[in-house]
Amino acid sequence: MIHAELTESLMKQIELVIQNRTGLHARPAKVLVNLAKQFKSDISLQHGAKRVNAKSMVSVLTLGAVCGSEITLQTNGLDEEKAIAELEIAIRAGLGDVDPAVEAEPAPIKVDAPVEIPPPAEPGVIKGVGAAPGIAVGPIFHFQQVELDLDNPEILSADGQLDLAEALTRAKVQLAELHQQMNDKKLGAEAAIFEAHAELLDDPELSEAVQVRVDTGLSPAKAWKATIDEQAASIAALNDPLLAARADDLRDVGERVLRLMLGLSEKGFMPKTPVVIVARELSPSDTASFDPERVLGFGIVEGGPTSHIAILARALGIPAIVGVDESMLALEEKTPVILNGNDGTLTVNPAADILERAKITQRRWLEYRRFAQEQSALPAVSLDGHRVDVTANAGSIADAAEALHMGADGIGLLRTEFLFLERTTAPTEDEQFAVYNAVAETMKTLPVIVRTLDIGGDKPLPYIQLKPELNPFLGERGIRLCLNRLELFREQLRAILRAAPSGNLKIMFPMVSDIAELRQARALIEEIRSELGTPPVQIGIMVEVPSAALMADVFAPEIDFFSIGTNDLTQYTLAMDRGNSALACKHDGLHPAVLRLIAHTIESAHKYGKRTDICGELGSDAAAVPILLGLGMDELSVSIPSVPTVKAQVRSLKIADWQPVAREALNCSTAQEVRELVKKHLN
Ligand code: PEP
Ligand code: MG
Repeated sequence: MIHAELTESLMKQIELVIQNRTGLHARPAKVLVNLAKQFKSDISLQHGAKRVNAKSMVSVLTLGAVCGSEITLQTNGLDEEKAIAELEIAIRAGLGDVDPAVEAEPAPIKVDAPVEIPPPAEPGVIKGVGAAPGIAVGPIFHFQQVELDLDNPEILSADGQLDLAEALTRAKVQLAELHQQMNDKKLGAEAAIFEAHAELLDDPELSEAVQVRVDTGLSPAKAWKATIDEQAASIAALNDPLLAARADDLRDVGERVLRLMLGLSEKGFMPKTPVVIVARELSPSDTASFDPERVLGFGIVEGGPTSHIAILARALGIPAIVGVDESMLALEEKTPVILNGNDGTLTVNPAADILERAKITQRRWLEYRRFAQEQSALPAVSLDGHRVDVTANAGSIADAAEALHMGADGIGLLRTEFLFLERTTAPTEDEQFAVYNAVAETMKTLPVIVRTLDIGGDKPLPYIQLKPELNPFLGERGIRLCLNRLELFREQLRAILRAAPSGNLKIMFPMVSDIAELRQARALIEEIRSELGTPPVQIGIMVEVPSAALMADVFAPEIDFFSIGTNDLTQYTLAMDRGNSALACKHDGLHPAVLRLIAHTIESAHKYGKRTDICGELGSDAAAVPILLGLGMDELSVSIPSVPTVKAQVRSLKIADWQPVAREALNCSTAQEVRELVKKHLN
């Protein structure tokens, strides 16, 4: 148990026991440091003989406090009393962990490189996973961070060198710009990366440690590099996969500052002519700095199609493949390749005719994308006259406006989690009402499907205490959590129902696995509706658990619509973690097992005159669109940038032609066979 002892003196001191199962890892450390920074007092943490500044992220991370560690918290200054009281409460409450005794942040999986990398067969095709669509044809370039030689007189005499303070200021400006650019592109999670980089630069210990080295006679650049290397190494030495990302962040931002100090603006060396970049991995800074004129495409060994790098590539319009076979790294520099971001392949040394065809495909793809954008306001009507609604997945009011701008026919999935994250208390009913109302008003008569809170398990909220869960993906998440937190659920439903008359809002429940959940949630809506006297709203469920798909005929009479969440449905059907990059090429929603569940859901819905849409990533996969439409999918809700191309694709096909192909797909044995089948028919 936590035991405390307050010492009355010029400073305040308390002893606490860390209860977080994995100790002070990234997330709780960030919560603690950010809270400490709000006070003027000096605040330190001591563990064993080591005492660190509690306002320094790196120092707190490297304190080595594990679960059960006794730490001493000391505050000294004008607001020491308030500081110690608030920090004590925060530490006792688990510093934002779902439950202090549970680590809920999923560990990134790293696959070690084999000792020997076999060279690829030539000519040949190296397999990966498509992460950003498009074709790139060109010579490869191995992108490597060049280790800067700080003894090289040429490097040291470059023009435009900055001192450390100037470089830090300039780096923060760059990071703020990148943060803004990512936000403008509606890439909240990627924006957060650059925000985290800026936070690392605010670490008071960093500059102090550099100064100590400078005082011993080291040049500022060398002192900076040595400090970053040392701190990143000490985080990495903790051997905690959760902290590995922080060590990478520190190296990434450290390199940015070093280059500014040396007057070197470009990240890494880039050739003047266009290339296809290959690398084991890329940092978000590398990717964000790529000029689409010179980087035709890129392939990396690490990462999955939902990784930040993949999302950045899609936003930049650069074709990309991820999770690529190691043999790619053994290719010689300038080897001609065709990188296909649609099917995830890298064709090495292609024959002249294949190369020519790829160049034509590449040109057509670019023209197609431009044309799709020009036509995005038109409805998506197939060649045989079926109107298919192409709606967007949104997560904010700004997204709603952007979706409208991109020609979306509505919002097929409004993820309401965005309202609840990054806060210390739940949003009030009125705060929620204001947001749902603004989205409803933005979209006017167009439908907006508001998904109720899909939180819990892997997505914790600091103000919701959950019991420890060994397997959060199979735990209290989505509708299960809401039904166990009726007050929270009630407030959200009241806010949605109040906003509904301002537009065309519908309500959808996530992670439903049993009809009893739907009935209970529906009854709650009816109860609230009669309290408020608001009109009826359409109610649907997400089909993302196999039991919901298998029981779709039981659900269908009691819902207005289904929305298939293939991200989770694939994960639960194939028992493959959707975030595991080692499984990325197998986690395929075109697997016949998933398709059979989709087909059964659509059939059941249609039997009762109900609609089915898809809101998982599969809906924007060009190979999946004809199969989904052939199975009778009524609506495709896709990522905002994909709206124009998906609409254009619907306009280019005859759904009747794809119905027999879709039936054939259900009888395929593997996802690969389904993809081959689609390819054959598309050709
Ligand atoms: C899904 O699971 O397919 C889905 C759309 O929901 P989320 O990605 O938010 O879990
Ligand atoms: Mg889901």
